[in-house]
Amino acid sequence: MNLRFQPYTLELKHAFGLAASTRTTTPAMLVEVEVDGVIGYGEAAMPPYLGESQATAAVFLERARDFLAGCADPFQLEEIIPAIDALALGNPAAKAAIDIALHDWIGKRLGVAWHRLWGLDPAKAPVTSFTIGIDTAEMVRKKTLEASIYKILKVKLGRDAESDRMMIRTIREVTDQPITIDANQGWKNRDDACRMIEWCAARQVLLIEQPMPKAQVDDTAWLRARSPLPLIADESVQRLADIKQAHGVFDGVNIKLMKCTGLREAHRMILLARALDLKVMLGCMTETSCAISAAAQLSPLVDWADLDGAVLIKNDCFEGVLIVEGRLTLPAWPGIGVRKR
Ligand code: MG
Repeated sequence: MNLRFQPYTLELKHAFGLAASTRTTTPAMLVEVEVDGVIGYGEAAMPPYLGESQATAAVFLERARDFLAGCADPFQLEEIIPAIDALALGNPAAKAAIDIALHDWIGKRLGVAWHRLWGLDPAKAPVTSFTIGIDTAEMVRKKTLEASIYKILKVKLGRDAESDRMMIRTIREVTDQPITIDANQGWKNRDDACRMIEWCAARQVLLIEQPMPKAQVDDTAWLRARSPLPLIADESVQRLADIKQAHGVFDGVNIKLMKCTGLREAHRMILLARALDLKVMLGCMTETSCAISAAAQLSPLVDWADLDGAVLIKNDCFEGVLIVEGRLTLPAWPGIGVRKR
């Protein structure tokens, strides 16, 4: 099995403001697996705050390349993916790039898209939210107007109460589209968080993602008992084994390929979350249509999709899932459903 990779820098259309940072690019790594003349595509997208970089990914992918060179049968995911995971701790995005490329290869080799292999109905792919980062009132207004095809807006909050209220008020001046809120751990005081959620609940907000720091488990459980809106874990849940910790603390989990090492684990996380009666959101980083289309293959299984990563960038080097009238529309192409531009 032949693994190739090259660095790629995703250029954002707008500066992207979060509770603790603002950026204009995202480092990524494009990966290809080639066996018997069939190429599977994968991608690692690595926002800097998560600790991976093109340099760390290159080191990991070199090790993986040596390991994969000795693997004859890419269909043996149950052997290969745990072995890749065991090559080094961490590196979830680099691991996801390999997992995505292997899934793409298998689907292409079989001539079948993964949503079909999983038995899913593509007509049940959900609408995706569109993210509005923290910004000035003028820019928030502009971004909101640009997002009119989306049925749900995801709003980044968590800097301070004044800025948070300004963001929501500004959006509500322009549209009454439903909103989801991502505080990115920005609310540190549970009484303040509770007041903010009550204020939001009166403004057509559907849910709150990661209101408090992940270390504040007891405060989050306290908040959940009082919150009129469902609380969804993002930073608090990375991988399969973390799902059980969300049970009783959150109402749902946000699963992302770049956190959880790829499609194989993401699929299991969805099934475990369902068994524990947790809601499921499928999220992303800023990513090309490669990783977004891979995640979209799972989207008929989830309650909410937040798969706008490819429309936030201006140099998407893949075509794949389309967003039509705000809804994810899966191509019939095999594998993860992508073509290189
Ligand atoms: Mg989030």
